[in-house]
Amino acid sequence: MEINKKLILGLEKKQISKEIFEIGHSSYRSDQIWHSIYRDFISDFDEITTIPQSLIIKLKDDYIFNSIDLVLKKISEDKSTDKYLWKLRDNEYIETVLMRYDPDGHRRRRRTVCVSTQAGCALGCTFCATGQQGFSRQLTVAEIVEQVLNVKKDVVKEKKNLVNKYSLKNDEINDLTNVVFMGMGEPLANYENTMSSIRILNDPKGLNIGARHITISTVGLVPQIIKLAEEDIQVNLAVSLHAPDNITRSETMPVNKRYPVEELIGACKEYFRKTNRKIFFEYVLLSGQNDTLEHANKLSELLKGLLCHVNLIPVNPTAGSSLERSKHNDIKNFREILLKNAISSTMRMEKGIDINAGCGQLRSSYISMEKKNV
Ligand code: SAH
Ligand code: SF4
Repeated sequence: MEINKKLILGLEKKQISKEIFEIGHSSYRSDQIWHSIYRDFISDFDEITTIPQSLIIKLKDDYIFNSIDLVLKKISEDKSTDKYLWKLRDNEYIETVLMRYDPDGHRRRRRTVCVSTQAGCALGCTFCATGQQGFSRQLTVAEIVEQVLNVKKDVVKEKKNLVNKYSLKNDEINDLTNVVFMGMGEPLANYENTMSSIRILNDPKGLNIGARHITISTVGLVPQIIKLAEEDIQVNLAVSLHAPDNITRSETMPVNKRYPVEELIGACKEYFRKTNRKIFFEYVLLSGQNDTLEHANKLSELLKGLLCHVNLIPVNPTAGSSLERSKHNDIKNFREILLKNAISSTMRMEKGIDINAGCGQLRSSYISMEKKNV
């Protein structure tokens, strides 16, 4: 029965090792299984060539290989962004985005995958398409890892084609370099599964995504931020601030009632004290809502003295909210104030706007389309 089987992609290497040992096989077999999955990119146990047939049969009896199926893949017109919509075993839908960045002077070429950690989200930020859909459930470790693994397979294929087509040296084209937990859901509300998936992605003999190339984005769950500071793997932390004071923040982010701005910034300071790592603040610019000169001054005051960087993000307007993008001039003035106050900031490049690449947008348009078709 499928129902009693475990998901192989949900296991860390030491867990596979332990389970293989318990069924009478040497634990070094786990290295071979791991290599087949994360380096040879097999798509089922039958394709493993390095382990005995008896173990393959046992693996097929006890474990499931896949838990997400591709429903739709959209590629942006400029070919920089691919968006994947997956169907889960219980008919939930989740999204993943691949973003290709070309070298831009100081930054090297990157291939970044943006993964989901929950089907839906309970936190209800008003500007967010995922928040507008409510919460369905936590994603399993396997569902998180498989998003990255499947996108990695596409990137490897793409890389091979380019190398052949232009007779390039293999290292002239980068592989999948970064993972950001900025898809659907709140990663720190699915804490253990998020951390376990990070340990799998980070494994040097597997996908080998360095901790410095992994970013967790959080709405600002204070206890979990403190907990994250104690972890062995130090990933980047991005905090969705989106407003410098409690009144403005509570208008679009209900979580602010639970963890108000001063508590959140206190947790960020504590995080910095423990890790010495720069914190990224996300700030979605919403016309007339959080983008005035007063907001910029308050934000500068709030972040003064904290080693941080502000990512300003043009809002992707969603069907469920009337919030609009800030005007060009307002953005310019906002940035000038941050600059004057020595708060470093960048305006995030827009990617994939033509393919609903904003968090939760493809899922919501797909589900409403499905409903219309019923
Ligand atoms: N739940 C986490 C991570 C997922 S959301 C968090 O909130 O941080 C990832 C980022 O996308 C967050 O900064 C979020 O505020 C932002 N976001 C959500 N909806 C958006 C929209 N419509 N336009 C632009 N950014 C959006
Ligand atoms: Fe949830 Fe993040 Fe969207 Fe807020 S912005 S509703 S926390 S996914």
